[in-house]
Amino acid sequence: MGTSAGGWKKTPRYPGNSERVSEFRINISNLPEGVHERSLEAAADHLGLDARFSEQVRAAAKVEKTSRQLYLHVEFTTRGTFTCDRCLDEFHKEVSGSYGVVYVTDTQADDGIEIDEIQVISPEANYIDLAEDVRQFVLLALPQKMLCREECAGLCPGCGVNRNRSKCSCPNEGIDPRWEGLRNLLEN
Ligand SMILES: [Zn+2]
Ligand SMILES: [Zn+2]
Repeated sequence: MGTSAGGWKKTPRYPGNSERVSEFRINISNLPEGVHERSLEAAADHLGLDARFSEQVRAAAKVEKTSRQLYLHVEFTTRGTFTCDRCLDEFHKEVSGSYGVVYVTDTQADDGIEIDEIQVISPEANYIDLAEDVRQFVLLALPQKMLCREECAGLCPGCGVNRNRSKCSCPNEGIDPRWEGLRNLLEN
C-alpha cells in the first residue's frame, strides 16, 4: 500500500511494484482517510484512445480522502504517432498533462480548492474508474497545431518539396512557413 503524506512530485513516479495495476481504476473500498498514491498503466486502446496512440498510458494518481470527499489528482503520460500539419511527416510525441477531480457523495464540496470538476459518486462505490477522464484529458492535451518540431520548415507551396530535407529554387522559398497561416488569412 503506497500510503504517503509526502508532497506531490512534478514527475510521475512508477514504483513498478504491486501498486501497479492493469486496470485504470482505484479501489476506494475501506480506504482510510489520508493521502494515498497509486500508479496506473493500461494500453491506449483499453482507454478508448484512437490509433494514433499505440503505447501504454501511465498515470500517477494521488487520492486525498477526508470524511466528506475524495480529492484525486492525476498526472498522465503517453506517446503517440502524429502527422505534422506543416510537412506531413509522421513523428512521435509525448503527450502528458494533469487534472484534478473532487468526488463527493453528496453535492457539497469544500470551497477554495482548485479543481477541474466535481463528480458525484455513490456512497457504496468500491472503485473510481479513471479511464474516461484520462482519455478525455489526453485528447485535450494535444496542441491545436501538430508540428514535428516548432521550427519545421514545411512543404514548399510551389513544388511540394519537404524543406526540412532539401532546398528548391522556387521564388517563394524565403517566406517563413510560420507566417503562412497569416498570409492565407490576408489573401482570403
Ligand atoms: Zn513538420
Ligand atoms: Zn519549391
